[in-house]
Order: sequence, then C-alpha cells, then structure tokens
Amino acid sequence: MADLSKGVAFIDDDYKPVGEACIPVLDWGFLHSDATYDVAHTWRGRFFRVDDYLDRFHASMAKLRMSVPYSREQIRSIMFELVRRSGLRDAYIEIVCTRGMPAPGSRDPRSCKNRFFAFVIPFVWIANERMREQGLDLLISRQQRIPPESVDPSIKNYHWLDMVMALFEAYDRGADTVILVDSEGGLVEGPGFNIFARLGDTVVTPARGVLEGVTRETVLELLARETLQVAPGPLPAASAQAADEVFITSTAGGVMPVTRLSGQVVGNGRPGALTAKLNDAYWALHDDPDYSVAIDYRGNPDE
Ligand SMILES: *Cc1c(COP(=O)(O)O)cnc(C)c1O
Repeated sequence: MADLSKGVAFIDDDYKPVGEACIPVLDWGFLHSDATYDVAHTWRGRFFRVDDYLDRFHASMAKLRMSVPYSREQIRSIMFELVRRSGLRDAYIEIVCTRGMPAPGSRDPRSCKNRFFAFVIPFVWIANERMREQGLDLLISRQQRIPPESVDPSIKNYHWLDMVMALFEAYDRGADTVILVDSEGGLVEGPGFNIFARLGDTVVTPARGVLEGVTRETVLELLARETLQVAPGPLPAASAQAADEVFITSTAGGVMPVTRLSGQVVGNGRPGALTAKLNDAYWALHDDPDYSVAIDYRGNPDE
C-alpha cells in the first residue's frame, strides 16, 4: 500500500496517493495557466483560518467565472478528509479549480467544464531553518510583477513566469529568494509571499498589485494590538533598504525575517524584535479556537 503520509489527492471524486493523481493534458489549467488555487495549512493537527482560505478561493472562482459541482461545505469536508487520510499533523493543503477542457475544436471558455482537485502534502517552508533564524537574503528583482491591470492579483493564480525567472536571477546572485517590483519601482510581492517594512514607528506593506495573503491579514490584525502606525501603501526599494526591519509573510512559513535586501544590510543585520514578536504571536494563534479548528483523525481502519 502507498504511503499516504507523503500526500493524498482528491480528484474525479476519488481519494488516491498524491503521486497517482493526474489531469488530462488538454485541461486549460495546464495549457493556459487558466486556473485559481488556494493553499491552507494545518499545524499540530489543527486547521488554521480554514474559512478565510475558503472565502478567498470562492471569491477567486467567482471572479474567473468558474464553478464546480462541490459546495463550499463539501470542499471544506474534502480538505479535512485529505488531512485525516494522510495522518499528517503539519500539512500543506492545496485546492485547485482549472478551466477544464473546451468542447472538441472549440476555443470558447464557456464550453469548458471546470475541474476541481485538491491535495495534501507535508508542510512546506519557503525559508529553511538557517534563513528563519538568521534572516533571508532577498534580491530586489528587475523583473516587474504582472501588473494588476493585466491579471487581478487578488485571484491566487499560476501566472508565475515572472516569479520563476526572478528566482533564477536571485539564485544566480547568491540570494535566498526574490521580491518583484511594480512599474514605479515599488516592491510588491515575491513567489508566494507578501512583504512588510518597519521604518521607526511605521509599518508599511504594499497595498496594490498584491495577493491579500491570509498571513498578511493575520499580521495586520496582530499589529493592531501594537502602538505602531500601519500604513498599507507603496514601498519604494530605497525605503525598504533603509528600514529598521523587513519581513515576509506566507502560509508556507509564517513571519520570516529579511536581513539583506539586494546586498544592503537591513537594520543591524539581525532579525528584528517586532518580526520575532509577530512570528511568536502568529504561531500561538494556531492553538487559539478563534483561529484554528482541530482535525478528527479517527476513521475506518480499512482506509
Ligand atoms: C499565496 C501567495 C501569497 C501569500 O498569501 P498567504 O495567504 O499568506 O499564504 C502572496 N503572494 C502570492 C503571489 C501568493 O501566491
């Protein structure tokens, strides 16, 4: 029997080991990146803010004029069932809706039957332990993120060629990861994360041209408990490089310090105190019943 702790997928109304799940090559999700997705996680056997991820996923599907034959409640149950079957405590759960395939010979998106699938795999970190402890070396890319006028970034999407080429640029220069810019040279977001900078008593996070991350939102809620000014708005590269602290946020890792920005040392070169405080508070919320819900791992022994 396959080892389900490596991952489980739900596709075509069936659960199977993640390595056995396939989609047809003619699906526009693959041929045109015509898809939306979301990524939630569990930590120590509890789902974090699962309804917020579901809200975003359903909003994304509606904006792309997609619909699937599963209700929101059913998708929620599928997510729990995937985790239950895997037995994973710390898990990464991806839910995906693709455009599907058009009628033979047609290029009309209205003729497509949208496809839903989902999978769970062990928790994925954007930054390894060294980076989380010492801070990331982040390159400010020359690459512009696809502008919001072209693709609505509030829809979580697979338009990642800008991100992937920027990652090559970062690795070529020995950086850990990369942040992309807008047409004005302001920082926007990186492959799967949002960014924040603290300049004195003010915390800035880009508000335009970004996906509104659930982790970003959680940090904004945590910042409301502090006596700091929060200023969602443009973050020019020079301000970020002159900031006292910079950190990135993602489901895949929480709140992670940045200690170098394109070769420039950030603050005193060590992870900032606010970053550490927010990260501790973020992980503490994973036991808070207002933010997380326990998974029932009991089930039929024949599964
Ligand atoms: C997923 C993602 C983020 C981070 O969002 P979270 O909900 O915090 O994980 C930021 N930017 C992009 C482009 C993303 O895909």
